[in-house]
Amino acid sequence: MLPEFTPVNNLTTQMAQQEIATLQKRLTDYGVAYYEEDAPLVEDYIYDAFYARLVLLEAQFPQFVTPDSPTQNVGGAKVKSGLAKVVHPAPMLSLGDVFSLEELQEWDERTTKTLGFQSEYNLELKIDGLAVALTYVDGKLVQASTRGNGSIGEDVTANVKTIRSIPQTLTEPITIEVRGEIYMPKSSFATLNKQREADGLEPFANPRNAAAGSLRQLNVAITKKRELSAFVYYTADPDAIGVTTQSGALERFAALGLPTDDHNRVIAKMADIDAYIAEYTSQRERLAYGIDGVVVKVNHLDNQLDLGHTVKIPRWAIAYKFPPEEALTVVLDIEWTVGRTGAVTPTAVMDPVQLAGTTVQRASLHNPDYLNAKDIRIGDTVTLHKAGDIIPEIGQVLLAERPANNQVYDIPTFCPACHSELVHLDGEVALRCINPFCVAQIQEKLTHFASRNAMNIDGMGPRVVSQLLKANYIQDVASIYRLQETQLLSLDKFKEKSVTNLLSAITTSKSNSLERLLFGLGIRMVGAKAARLIAEKFKTLQAIADASVIDIASIAGIGETIALSVVQYFKTPEAKQLLIELREAGVNQTYLSDVIVDETSFFYGKKIVLTGKLEKGSRTEATKWLQDHGAQVTGSVSAKTDLLIAGEDAGSKLDKANALGVTVWDEQAFIEAQAKEGTDK
Ligand code: NAD
Repeated sequence: MLPEFTPVNNLTTQMAQQEIATLQKRLTDYGVAYYEEDAPLVEDYIYDAFYARLVLLEAQFPQFVTPDSPTQNVGGAKVKSGLAKVVHPAPMLSLGDVFSLEELQEWDERTTKTLGFQSEYNLELKIDGLAVALTYVDGKLVQASTRGNGSIGEDVTANVKTIRSIPQTLTEPITIEVRGEIYMPKSSFATLNKQREADGLEPFANPRNAAAGSLRQLNVAITKKRELSAFVYYTADPDAIGVTTQSGALERFAALGLPTDDHNRVIAKMADIDAYIAEYTSQRERLAYGIDGVVVKVNHLDNQLDLGHTVKIPRWAIAYKFPPEEALTVVLDIEWTVGRTGAVTPTAVMDPVQLAGTTVQRASLHNPDYLNAKDIRIGDTVTLHKAGDIIPEIGQVLLAERPANNQVYDIPTFCPACHSELVHLDGEVALRCINPFCVAQIQEKLTHFASRNAMNIDGMGPRVVSQLLKANYIQDVASIYRLQETQLLSLDKFKEKSVTNLLSAITTSKSNSLERLLFGLGIRMVGAKAARLIAEKFKTLQAIADASVIDIASIAGIGETIALSVVQYFKTPEAKQLLIELREAGVNQTYLSDVIVDETSFFYGKKIVLTGKLEKGSRTEATKWLQDHGAQVTGSVSAKTDLLIAGEDAGSKLDKANALGVTVWDEQAFIEAQAKEGTDK
């Protein structure tokens, strides 16, 4: 919560000195958590408000500015242990920021005055990620480093080499250092946090922290799994590529094969920025990556040189930060759901509100610690925003609005489904139900087994699984293969045709390649990608069951935690029995190397809808391409749709997707994603 700041004119020198010291310490602590640990203690707008207060006080009382003040330093000071230090040949700076059009105007006036004329500006989107420097020698990527404290960063070369959009070789054999932003696309961020929640881990606060946490890894395999991407926007050595403007540099980067964000625009005067800001304020929902503002850059590089920089920021650029989109609502209930791994997670159910283009009614509260830390109670009025432009999240409780006698929320101690006692496993923030017979977990496990990315049993969604469980026709995954026609016919809404279809889908699933079965078993930490890597290496389920932690962890892309989880799973008598029963039922347990569709494709298994007019190809071509990459292209948008690709003049499908909170891409985002698939294969 932000305090009421005393007007600066009412401060005595002693009071100012004390407040400056307190703010410096507070912002330094926040900075350590944010930059070095990738786990912020407060939201950005709170940091920004304290930072602005410090800037104001230091300007008024410059005698108290210390060299270690956060206003005098870039980012985090400490290099993560285990990562080598890299000294930047030219400092990597931060950006000055403004939060209103008036402040932007003032910056423009100062710049115009210093230059003596009105400069042209290149406008770029401010990508919500972390800065990286890439060094190419004779066209080959030789080093990648983080910004660190601006002078010394961390060596993340091996990590960056796993990012598909960053070329290992440029289209020309030149030597150059370029800089840009590493980011995590919204869809990957949403999937990652969902997975972390199920695994009992703390979710990342936003895509920026998720990207930083994923890049600054000693275990490169983890970076590889995280689906990071990048845009390049700067070089300190424009002569190496013969450019004289920022907009020209972006074009040259693209020609060199480097990923660039082509939403930039050159404007002749600052007033022209209004249209750009308006456009991207409304469009940001539709972008595949998070942005938190617009960066204005003096376009001519010689003018940039004339303007120079301070110890922390260039004078030739400024970031206009979007105001946080926030809504107020009331918490009506806190629901607890049991996932297939037994993690019991709370969700706030709220009065529906309109927020950044969608109606929001639910927000995950992740785990009991999170709920307690925010002290959210039923009946509280709360602020709501979208983390990383995508996930609804409660910001804070408005204590002034809290109804009198509102009680502290009691965290449940018993499973809401099976009523057995809940536990905290070592090192986990999640609350877990460890009853292997918990009905909610069994329901989730079976639904997962039948799901599209696993055994793909069409017609066996959550409703049918629930019917089958209630009738006691199935108890575990092996029992699915013992289902009888007469049993199915006795179920509500089941006719001969639906019974035949379901039985045939079950039979077809017996021939799936091993990785689907392995993923379907729902072993903790084993996602679709890990399952494929393990299946590829061991070829049979029995070989996996017999493998040691060392054997499994020796696979590139698989860490010890996953390996341990696999070994523990196959040690259980239930798993041993299951293997036998699945074999007896005729379920294939071998890796079929002739699987045509690449399951690592971003599109694999996703339900996608195309709408509007595509400029660069027909919808039929796009559909075929998506299907070839394992996507299921459907005609109408529903809550189950993973992605809507919207061309020009998209109509009601786009509205519906927005209303349902479905991720929407424009054609450009689709083309970029297609290019990425192409370069990686
Ligand atoms: P910044 O993120 O506000 O801006 C500078 C950075 O923008 C650059 O280093 C670059 O990485 C990035 N960027 C994105 N798109 C760009 C483009 N097109 N051109 C140039 N640069 C681009 O500055 P910062 O110093 O990295 O961080 C300060 C911000 O971080 C604060 O304003 C605050 O919001 C946040 N922060 C939050 C906490 C917290 O506790 N929540 C703590 C520290 C910092």
